[in-house]
Amino acid sequence: MEDIHSNSRVHFQRTGILFVISAPSGAGKTTLCTALRQKPDFVYSVSCTTRLPRPGEDEGEDYYFLTQEAFEKKIAEDDFLEYAQVHDHYYGTLKKPVIDQLQRGIDVLIDIDTHGAATIRANQDPIIQHALADVFIMPPDLEELRRRLERRGTESAQEVELRLANAAREMECWRDYRYTIISGSMEENIEKFRAVMRAERYQSRRFSIVPKVSTSQGEGN
Ligand code: 5GP
Repeated sequence: MEDIHSNSRVHFQRTGILFVISAPSGAGKTTLCTALRQKPDFVYSVSCTTRLPRPGEDEGEDYYFLTQEAFEKKIAEDDFLEYAQVHDHYYGTLKKPVIDQLQRGIDVLIDIDTHGAATIRANQDPIIQHALADVFIMPPDLEELRRRLERRGTESAQEVELRLANAAREMECWRDYRYTIISGSMEENIEKFRAVMRAERYQSRRFSIVPKVSTSQGEGN
């Protein structure tokens, strides 16, 4: 656990928080996550996917790009905390690194679709239940999403339609999340997300007290 604060007699320790962020394609989530990662006071969980890398995406930085067979092997070996098929590809969060970081008191950010978030919410592991703080980024209207996806130009016309249909379905899920951020400018989104992070980090239930071990001779006599 992270050593947050100490006074003369005790240490306060805090458990790690699992920040889950979901938003339909084009809501600005990737840019938000990239901006948040500039000030890394959390670990970003790199997902596995079977989709092909986009220009500029790096192996191990944006995703672990796997073949379908390699992905299915990891499913069979129970390596995923959650996985889902999104826009005709597999995406999944590796279990071990997330649990290890949370147990060490390190906050983790995962960027997953609404199915993945539902799987994590249903997870009965007390570590996950205690850690979870889920945030939905509500995009502007679908027409604006279409414009953004078309401007990005990384998907075919058919894929854009699929992403828009999925976006309409995902936008129905906002109530399932503890927090909803109505997407505004990038600066506003960062500020709102940072506010959520700060509030979550000060929740009393996340702290425990451990006695300070005396190091200097004679102290306490
Ligand atoms: P993209 O292909 O645009 O990078 O991501 C497409 C969608 O997959 C996004 O909604 C993103 O949040 C979601 N996604 C990325 N990684 C994961 C993951 O590990 N699990 C799940 N369930 N969804 C993911």
